Amino acid sequence: MKVLVLGAGQLARMMALAGTPLGVAVCAFDVRSQKVVHPITLAQTHDSLQHALDNVDVVTAEFEHVPHDILAICEASGKLAPASSNIKIGGDRRLEKAMLDRANANNASHVIVDSELSLNQACEKLGVPLVLKSALDGYDGKGQWRIKQSTDIEPVWQDIAEFLQQSSDKQGIVAEQFIPFDREVSLIGARNARGEVVFYPLAENIHVDGVLSLSLAEQGDSAIQQQAETMFKSVAEELNYVGVLAIEFFQVGDQLLVNEIAPRVHNSGHWTQQGADTCQFENHLRAVLNLPLGSTKLIRPTAMINILGEDNLPDELLTVASLHMHWYGKDKRAGRKMGHINVSGKDKAELALRLQQVAGILCKEQFPALNCYR
Ligand code: ATP
Ligand code: MG
Ligand code: MG
Repeated sequence: MKVLVLGAGQLARMMALAGTPLGVAVCAFDVRSQKVVHPITLAQTHDSLQHALDNVDVVTAEFEHVPHDILAICEASGKLAPASSNIKIGGDRRLEKAMLDRANANNASHVIVDSELSLNQACEKLGVPLVLKSALDGYDGKGQWRIKQSTDIEPVWQDIAEFLQQSSDKQGIVAEQFIPFDREVSLIGARNARGEVVFYPLAENIHVDGVLSLSLAEQGDSAIQQQAETMFKSVAEELNYVGVLAIEFFQVGDQLLVNEIAPRVHNSGHWTQQGADTCQFENHLRAVLNLPLGSTKLIRPTAMINILGEDNLPDELLTVASLHMHWYGKDKRAGRKMGHINVSGKDKAELALRLQQVAGILCKEQFPALNCYR
């Protein structure tokens, strides 16, 4: 079986790694260079997109900001999963918010703003603090602004107006209520074309400057898990979704609100490579190929630590029991996701001890999410 992935980053790479033992060959389409490449070596092939489409069973995506003309070509092949409408919803916060409301999934109230006047009205309607997010192209907390008090409105709008002017598309901005969350969690699940759905246990996510820094997965509170699964099911059914889907939530007390969805494998699901019966990458391939889905059972509490802007870490890390390095083979750039570390323990206490060991080896400034283990 063959799968083409739109996007040639680390997610396509990890799908290829997971597909190999399953007998699934993965190739990638680099949307920027418009070349079909090998997902691990990134070596270019002479294949055109159309030729690659003719030769695979399924085409899928590793990110939601795929140009719409490419999505249209892929959809026309009849092989795209999830559907282009789902990928577009993940890439446009206006469509995403409307979909969440249709699916009755609890989420922060919002207003679309496109002028200083409408921003003023949004502040009146929703109250402050407010979070403003560009409708398109947002990732890793980029394209976001905060309004803490009414005197912020004018300078923030100036910033936004400048941002909108520079962007090719005169996109709108989604203004949403600031949620004073207790923690952030995400649910990764998979649904195949037969409508079968499986869920991993929730992961707790720590973000630093808007970027995921650490995810921790353990067997958690079953009522919260249930709440997340119920919302996941209504979203996945509303979308008639096929593949792995990630939903990020804010937890306030014992209530969950959806922050956003990602129509793909997700950074907060990398822990499944060491912590679950079947990793998210294999389950995504199984789902889009309409194969039986793999067990999502947690086999041991596992944490994932993102490596940002660094291509060399002490070898001593490899002395930590059950620690695994996952480098993406990318050129080093400040803040860039270069790899991740997965570390497990037989129980919470053993995992915490191992995270303390990891924290002792890694530099404090680069890995602030580990500070609670120092
Ligand atoms: P990702 O890389 O996860 O796709 P993104 O750029 O799409 O990120 P969001 O997930 O919307 O951004 O926001 C990034 C982070 O900012 C969230 O994980 C959360 O910590 C914070 N945040 C976003 N929206 C809100 C909100 N309404 N209230 C409070 N905090 C928020
Ligand atoms: Mg996002
Ligand atoms: Mg997010």
